[in-house]
Amino acid sequence: MPHKIEPAPSGRAKCRSCKKTIEKGSLRLGASVPNAFGDGESFHWFHLVCGAERRSAEFLEALADPESTQPEPAALEELKALAAIGVEHPRWTRPAHVERATTGRAKCRHCREAIAAGSLRIALEFVEDGMINPSGFLHPTCALAYLGSTEHILERMIRSSELNDEEVAELQGALSSSSV
Ligand SMILES: [Zn+2]
Ligand SMILES: [Zn+2]
Repeated sequence: MPHKIEPAPSGRAKCRSCKKTIEKGSLRLGASVPNAFGDGESFHWFHLVCGAERRSAEFLEALADPESTQPEPAALEELKALAAIGVEHPRWTRPAHVERATTGRAKCRHCREAIAAGSLRIALEFVEDGMINPSGFLHPTCALAYLGSTEHILERMIRSSELNDEEVAELQGALSSSSV
C-alpha cells in the first residue's frame, strides 16, 4: 500500500509525532507500515506538518500519489520546504520531544559525553521497517552538529513536549548556540 494523504474520517487517531489528536476532516499523512504477519496493512498517522518533518520521504511520495488529497496551495510550499530539509538531513527527522534528564547516565549521541541530570535533552527516534524505536538523546547544544540543521526544531519540540516559558527560552538558547 502506498503512503497517502487524506482527510481524517474521525477524530480518534493520534499523531505519531506530537501525540495529539488529529481533528476530524483535517488532512493527515498515512505512512504505510509493512505488516510483519503477512496480510493486512496498517498506517502510522501524522498531522501534515508533523509528517513532513518526521517522515519526509514518505510525505513527498504520498504527495505525488494521484490518490492523495492535495493540501491547500498556501500550506503546500511550507510543507514541501519542511520535507526537503528531512530528505537532505535524514537525522533531522529523528528528534521526537525534549525532556529533563532524570539521571546523569545517558550519553549524548553526538559528543558521547554524559547529559547532566536536570538538564534538557532531545529524545531521538529511529524508524526501521516501519517500527519506531527510541534511539537515545542529544544535548540541545549538539543539535546542529548531529542533525545537520536545527531549522524548525524549536517549533517541533514545543508541539510535542510540555514546556514552560523558561524551558522554551532555555532550549532556544541552547539550539542557537549549537554549532557544527
Ligand atoms: Zn502532530
Ligand atoms: Zn553532546
